[in-house]
Amino acid sequence: MRSVGSHPFHAGIVGTLLAAAMACMTFLTLYDGRADALDHAHQTAQNLVAIISSDVARNVEIYDLSLESMVDGAQDPFTWRLTGRLRQAVLFDRATTAAYLGGAYLVDANGHVLASQNGDLSASVRLDDRDYFTIQQRNPAVGLFISHPFHSRLRGGNLSIGLTRRFNAPDGSFAGVALLAIRIEYFQRLLDKIDTGQRGSVFIVLDDGTLLARKPFNEHDIGTSIARSDMFVRMAEHEQGEYVAASVVDGVRRMFTFARVPGTSMIVVVAPAVKDVLAAWRRRSLIAGGLTLALGGLFIVLSWLLAFTLQDKVRAQAELVRLAATDPLTGLSNRRVLDARLDEEWRRARRNGSPMSVLFVDVDHFKRFNDTYGHAAGDEVLAAVSECIDSVVRRSVDLVARYGGEEFAVVLPDTAEAGASLVAEKIRKKVQGMQFDHGASDHGTVTVSVGCATRLPSKGGSALELMAAADQQLYEAKSAGRNQVKSAA
Ligand code: GH3
Ligand code: MG
Ligand code: MG
Repeated sequence: MRSVGSHPFHAGIVGTLLAAAMACMTFLTLYDGRADALDHAHQTAQNLVAIISSDVARNVEIYDLSLESMVDGAQDPFTWRLTGRLRQAVLFDRATTAAYLGGAYLVDANGHVLASQNGDLSASVRLDDRDYFTIQQRNPAVGLFISHPFHSRLRGGNLSIGLTRRFNAPDGSFAGVALLAIRIEYFQRLLDKIDTGQRGSVFIVLDDGTLLARKPFNEHDIGTSIARSDMFVRMAEHEQGEYVAASVVDGVRRMFTFARVPGTSMIVVVAPAVKDVLAAWRRRSLIAGGLTLALGGLFIVLSWLLAFTLQDKVRAQAELVRLAATDPLTGLSNRRVLDARLDEEWRRARRNGSPMSVLFVDVDHFKRFNDTYGHAAGDEVLAAVSECIDSVVRRSVDLVARYGGEEFAVVLPDTAEAGASLVAEKIRKKVQGMQFDHGASDHGTVTVSVGCATRLPSKGGSALELMAAADQQLYEAKSAGRNQVKSAA
């Protein structure tokens, strides 16, 4: 508190630094919170991707088991010897349990429906242009194939994808495909359950960039290709991953978290919007940050108010101290300061073994001056004489004080008699040199008489005795005709 008292601005500076440090801590914590929110969103997205992916993988596995059993049935000549319900049962028994199944079909090598789960053969429909057909036709090693979305020709335009496996004639040549049509609705229902926030999206895409399902749903999006977007290029190259990118469609920045559905050509992508993810954090931060700034600002303002108030107080105190030590007419130190310094310098000189001198300066016939020129003019003379003395006594350790009335005392520490007389003579000359008219004086101008005394305090005596000696010399100077210096060792 003492250091704050002597350096009031410390209160303001310390307050400002404290507020800044607190604000820094708050903002660091808030920034940390942002990373946490993003991390948390990423974790959640990863979990969602895993859940969707495992659901899709499990269903594809079930569909594939059905396909394999259909292929087995189709390749067994015994099946074709059966008729009616029995053949249906052998071929499609397992397929019936699958969810969101649009239909199960055996398609022959020409693209005609050979057998179907519901018994409908739709003889006029040909399917040999479908990708799920041509790919199996051209390549015996494809295995399970997942097709692009298409509008079903067998079920009134229903949007579906086809899962196919090839079946062969006994000689190994292409005999047709076993086809399960899965309604896109399956994927859409799955995605509908996922909450991705207001501007988020979640979608399933084939590894060639064809969109299978998307939330938010727009029928025109299904089947379109995103293969050319930068983000898809990265997805196609990795099994799983995450990155933040602005959407080419709506410019919204999203966190894309993706993973390939094991054993399939499908990629599941969960992409919450960065704005949604950070919305709660942003709200909290605005409140906390705003409060921090407001309170910190208030703290700084209060600190500086305190600092300025303290400074005013310190200034007022210093002024009081100065006034208490100063003579108002001449601006010199007053008698109180003189007494304290005399004592102090006497003890110092005694310790150091150095000499100490004192001068008594008294304006000659000043009573007459006042009587002749008036009291105000007398005051002016006193101020001028004090300036003369002050300008001659230049060392910082020297003290010039108004002793009282028209008498001044000069304390010259560490000064021997010769030096003191020299200073005294300079003062006398300078006052005379001012040429202040004093008609009532023998000298015609204002003059001073000076008494000097010097002592070695280490040899005994006292400061009072030194003063008395100087006063005695002043008396001598007056008696000897004034305007002169008298000194005694
Ligand atoms: P001496 O040469 O023997 O010193 O004669 P003097 O008249 O100067 O001495 P004396 O002690 O008789 O008179 C001092 C005068 O100084 C008396 C007083 O009127 C005047 N005086 C003292 N203080 C002040 C002051 O503050 N202002 C003015 N104008 N005069 C003062
Ligand atoms: Mg006098
Ligand atoms: Mg006097």
